[in-house]
Amino acid sequence: MTTGIVYDDIYLEHRIGTHVESHFRLIEIMDFLKSNKIFENPNFKLIKPRLASLDQIKYVHEESLINEVREISDLAEKTARIQSLDMDTSVSSKTYEASLYSVGGNLQAIDEILSGNIQNGFALVRPPGHHSNSFRCAGFCIFNNIAIGAEYLFREKNVKKVAIIDWDCHHGNGTQDIFYHGSKSKEGQLIIFNSHQDGRTLYPGSGFIGETGSGKGEGKIINYPMPPNAADDAIIIYFDEIISPILSEFKPEFILISAGFDTHWTDELTNMGWTIQGPANYLKRIKKVAEEYANDRILITLEGGYQIDKQARAVYNCLRVLNNEEENLILEKSRSSEQALLDYLNKKLIPALKDKLSSYWNCF
Ligand SMILES: [Zn+2]
Repeated sequence: MTTGIVYDDIYLEHRIGTHVESHFRLIEIMDFLKSNKIFENPNFKLIKPRLASLDQIKYVHEESLINEVREISDLAEKTARIQSLDMDTSVSSKTYEASLYSVGGNLQAIDEILSGNIQNGFALVRPPGHHSNSFRCAGFCIFNNIAIGAEYLFREKNVKKVAIIDWDCHHGNGTQDIFYHGSKSKEGQLIIFNSHQDGRTLYPGSGFIGETGSGKGEGKIINYPMPPNAADDAIIIYFDEIISPILSEFKPEFILISAGFDTHWTDELTNMGWTIQGPANYLKRIKKVAEEYANDRILITLEGGYQIDKQARAVYNCLRVLNNEEENLILEKSRSSEQALLDYLNKKLIPALKDKLSSYWNCF
C-alpha cells in the first residue's frame, strides 16, 4: 500500500507577501510531516511534479486567462512587485510557473495511480484552484487543478466516470461553473459533491441546493450548504444520506477531492466547527466507496486552510487514512453540532435536496 505525496519547493515561489494564502501553509505541512517521519516510512512516496502543457490547461481555461496569468507574472518580475488579478488574488513573478507545476503535480499523481506505482495520493500544491472558472481567476486561485485533473482523466486516460468531492469551507464555484453543463469531452461523466458553509454567510455566496447542473450535467451538481458552526457530524449526514447512495448508483472509476482545511473551528476566515480529525473521518467513508468501485483510486488536492498548525495535523490525518492507518490519527476533543442545527439538516435540508435530485437518481 503506497500513498503518493506531491510536493516541490516551486510551490513556495508563488510568494504573495502577507496574504493569508501564504507559502507558510505548505512549509508548516511539510515540517509537520517530516517531524513525524512520514517520508522515512516506505508506505509514503514523495512525487515530484511536472509542468502541465498549455493544451492541458486549455481543457478548462480560455487562452485569454492563461495569457493574463503569464503577463501579470511577467509584470511582477519586471517591477519586482506583487501584482493582483482581483481584490483577493495576488501574483508573484513565479506564479505562472508554480501554477503550471500545481496542475502538473496533480497530473503526475494521476499517472502514478493509474500505473499502480501508488494506490492513492495527496497533492500538496499551491496556488489552489477551485474558485477559478474558464475565464476568470478568483478567490486566491489560479488554474483549476481539480477540473483539469478530471478532464485529463477523460481525454488522455480513457476514464469515463469521475466523482469530484469538494470539502473546502468555501463553495467551489469555479469547478461548478466549468462543469455546470457536464464535461465537454465526449464520453466523460462527472459528478460533483460540494459541501461548504452556507453561501448567505460566506464567500463566494453560491452553492445552493437548487444549483443542480443542466444539459449533460443535469442532476450531477450536488451542493450541501451547511449553516455556520456545523461540526464533524454535519458532513457525515451528507455522506450517509446523499453521497453514499448516489455513488453506489454512479459507480465512479476515480475520485478527486478538493480538500480545504478551512472548516476547522479556529479558522479565522470562516465560521465552522470541524476538528482536525473531521476531514479524515469523512475521508474514511469516501475511501470505502473508492475501494468498492474505483480500485482505491483517490487523489486529494489541497485548496484552502488558514489556521496552519491545525491544517498540518488535518492533512497528516488524511494521509494516514489514505494509507489505511486509521489507528494513527491525531485527535483533538470532539465537537458536535447543536441539536437545532442537526434537526435543520435532517428534517429540512436533506429532504429538500433529495427532492431536487429525485428525478435524476433512482436511489431517491
Ligand atoms: Zn476555502
